[in-house]
Amino acid sequence: MPATAERQRAIFSFEIFPPKREMPMDTVYRTLDELTDLEPDFISVTCGAGGSADGSNHRTIEVASAIQNKYHREGIAHLPCIHFSRADVLAMLDELEANGVRKILALRGDRVPDLTPKEDFHHASDLIAFIRAHAKDRFQIFAACYPEGHIEAPDLDTDIGNLRKKVDAGVDRLISQLFFDNAFFYDFLNKARKAGINVPVEAGIMPVTNKKQIERMVTLCGATLPRKFQRVLAKYESQPEALREAGIAFATEQIVDLLAHGVDGIHLYTMNNPYIARKISESIRTLL
Ligand SMILES: Cc1cc2nc3c(=O)[nH]c(=O)nc-3n(C[C@H](O)[C@H](O)[C@H](O)COP(=O)(O)OP(=O)(O)OC[C@H]3O[C@@H](n4cnc5c(N)ncnc54)[C@H](O)[C@@H]3O)c2cc1C
Repeated sequence: MPATAERQRAIFSFEIFPPKREMPMDTVYRTLDELTDLEPDFISVTCGAGGSADGSNHRTIEVASAIQNKYHREGIAHLPCIHFSRADVLAMLDELEANGVRKILALRGDRVPDLTPKEDFHHASDLIAFIRAHAKDRFQIFAACYPEGHIEAPDLDTDIGNLRKKVDAGVDRLISQLFFDNAFFYDFLNKARKAGINVPVEAGIMPVTNKKQIERMVTLCGATLPRKFQRVLAKYESQPEALREAGIAFATEQIVDLLAHGVDGIHLYTMNNPYIARKISESIRTLL
């Protein structure tokens, strides 16, 4: 399971999203006040798929820079590329570098209705090769992987073949899509290692706290909801507090099992909810 024979402590990191353009920024800073207290190894900041076209990248840069300079933790900027031109990417890299942010999660992103892709980048691998060519090793590059296969891929083996191309283009670490059944992650990891993918892989865990939220996510990314979790959702769907605590317990159990299997890291999709991040951090901190 470990990428190298000499295992290091598992990484523990968070994902947050910046507020929408019309919303004030202070909400995210209140969230960060609490999340940074939990001393994650890094915090990644999502970027709307519209990228430079709708200006969502500016808020991503602003929040990632604040994580780095105001909170003195490692910030990672997500960069979904299909709606970016090469010039947009270079401008974003310059701004991030000027602010001391040296970690990028390089993504393709998804098509946005009514927005024509810019055609400079078709896959995340195009973006990764471009960043490596222009910025050499000045950025650490992260990329996404999919334990159950990406929703557009015909099957997991094909997706892993494409993942290998992406990693070969210059990826340092992978972060996985959310999953609720660890068996998918272990099977994916075995196949990825056999395919020669040797970079560390962090397991993406989303604590479920709301039935609608999870049904939306599952439809979008195709993750399987195990029977035992469907039962929890059905029983507690109209009791928000009980569902939240059940979601935290389920995610914690998943993480304990992943850590016992020697996973390289846990990436918590916090949904900007410090309460949930704190409860999970407190339970697993000594296990890392
Ligand atoms: C950890 C994580 C964070 C994310 N953050 C964001 C975010 O902030 N903003 C956002 O908009 N989206 C985000 N996403 C969603 C992501 O943009 C979508 O899942 C998107 O559909 C695929 O992005 P990718 O970078 O994995 O694409 P790619 O690696 O380009 O893969 C997309 C599809 O193309 C196939 N493929 C890849 N390379 C090739 C190739 N060379 N030839 C043929 N086929 C190929 C793959 O098998 C896959 O089916 C995130 C996803 C994850 C897992």
